[in-house]
Amino acid sequence: MSKYDIIVVGSGPGGYVTAIRASQLGFKTAIVEKENLGGVCLNWGCIPTKALLKSAQVFEYLKHAEDYGLSVKEYDKDFGAVVKRSRGVAEGMSKGVQFLMKKNKIDVINGFGKIKSGKKVEVTGSDDKKTEYQADHIIIATGARSRELPSLPQDGKKVIGYREAMNLPEQPKKLIVVGSGAIGIEFAYFYNAMGTEVTVVEYLPNIVPVEDEDVSKQLERSFKKAGVKVMTSAEVTKVDTSGKGVKATIKTKKGEEVLEADIVLSAVGIKTNIENIGLEDVGIATDRDKILVNDYYQTNIPGYYAIGDVTPGQALAHVASAEGILCVEKIAGMHVEALDYGNIPGCTYCMPEVASVGLTEKQAREKGYEIKVGKFPFSASGKAKASGTPDGFVKVIFDAKYGEWLGCHMIGAGVTDMIAEAVVARKLETTGHEVLKAVHPHPTMSEAVMEAVADAYDEVIHL
Ligand SMILES: Cc1cc2nc3c(=O)[nH]c(=O)nc-3n(C[C@H](O)[C@H](O)[C@H](O)COP(=O)(O)OP(=O)(O)OC[C@H]3O[C@@H](n4cnc5c(N)ncnc54)[C@H](O)[C@@H]3O)c2cc1C
Repeated sequence: MSKYDIIVVGSGPGGYVTAIRASQLGFKTAIVEKENLGGVCLNWGCIPTKALLKSAQVFEYLKHAEDYGLSVKEYDKDFGAVVKRSRGVAEGMSKGVQFLMKKNKIDVINGFGKIKSGKKVEVTGSDDKKTEYQADHIIIATGARSRELPSLPQDGKKVIGYREAMNLPEQPKKLIVVGSGAIGIEFAYFYNAMGTEVTVVEYLPNIVPVEDEDVSKQLERSFKKAGVKVMTSAEVTKVDTSGKGVKATIKTKKGEEVLEADIVLSAVGIKTNIENIGLEDVGIATDRDKILVNDYYQTNIPGYYAIGDVTPGQALAHVASAEGILCVEKIAGMHVEALDYGNIPGCTYCMPEVASVGLTEKQAREKGYEIKVGKFPFSASGKAKASGTPDGFVKVIFDAKYGEWLGCHMIGAGVTDMIAEAVVARKLETTGHEVLKAVHPHPTMSEAVMEAVADAYDEVIHL
């Protein structure tokens, strides 16, 4: 039986990053994967969606070329080519992980991994052959898949999840997106920009419900302006797929309404991959569908760990990677600081983009903080005006007493690349005054951060 120091089960951004860090630290490492290397993120999540969104954005530029003084006589979209490009990008990224595994001397074991007591992993290959491997430490990183609602069973054709949504053979004319978290909103933006008639149905009163309410409202305005129908405080109670398309019954405060569409995309969250992987045999504790871990990702059974979407905490690629690195560094005996889940940035890559970190204004008030709030609209930013992207703003929230930067919320072009400033500043426990005195380059969208902070301290210049 092959013996390793560390075996990682699952090769998403949690698993493969963990394996690389383990190898860097001198551990003999293997990774088990039943599909393509790279997990949901590289194959069916973060990366292929961003490729689709880029095509949509280029298409939007073409549509609005005249706004920039340009005339594009003929342009069209080729939906199949857009999807093909996205799949190509994903494939390339997965090959990149293959290269990284080789470079870091990590053994890749193809097949379905099941953990066993005695620190063993049984891998069933495509030929159904079972092989056992032994390790001192076993890290579970099996991730998650699209969650199904009982009222919205997915048939993969008319009622679909995210995998099908990014790989449709034909562009739907009408699409209903159920759920307005990052995944639902990104697909809504993509399909609307490509010319599909899109309706977003959200159960809660606001779209992107985890975001600050001002951001949710602004995004709703932008989406409505772009032609997306937005239904909030609304619920799909029934779908009828017996006809040519889908008839979805939607319950709102005003009563019931039946909407017709070609396809319904269910984007109501994720379901962890914890079935049949041996958790019960080994005795690993779970709660509400997640594997329970401590600050260092140790499960209740010594020698077994879990990281990424399969554990509690934000289901994001950068969280999965950070958890994996921390987990193996702890195994290596390094002094590690537990992850601060309050300082994790979250991004939605529609247009305008949304990015945030820390507390919303409502959360800060609920926690009893006395706060200073600053806001700077991109309509007052020279760079945003020059770029033709004046929609959105930066909003900052500070603790009035000690100057702690409690939260930062952005909506606008390119803000997903700007939020890291707030993450680093918060990590360094920077106060508003320090951000204010850190000179930002002109003209950039990032000046809006400095100006929003200035606004919080009544020193704003360009308003
Ligand atoms: C459409 C979409 C867009 C997204 N966009 C973003 C984004 O922009 N930014 C962001 O941060 N996050 C995004 N996410 C979330 C992100 O993809 C996940 O948080 C991330 O992939 C989780 O990483 P993971 O390593 O925990 O699991 P996964 O990426 O799910 O990887 C788990 C891997 O384990 C394998 N596996 C499962 N069970 C077994 C088994 N028994 N044996 C062997 N292999 C197994 C699976 O095949 C898979 O490859 C998006 C998700 C989706 C669906």
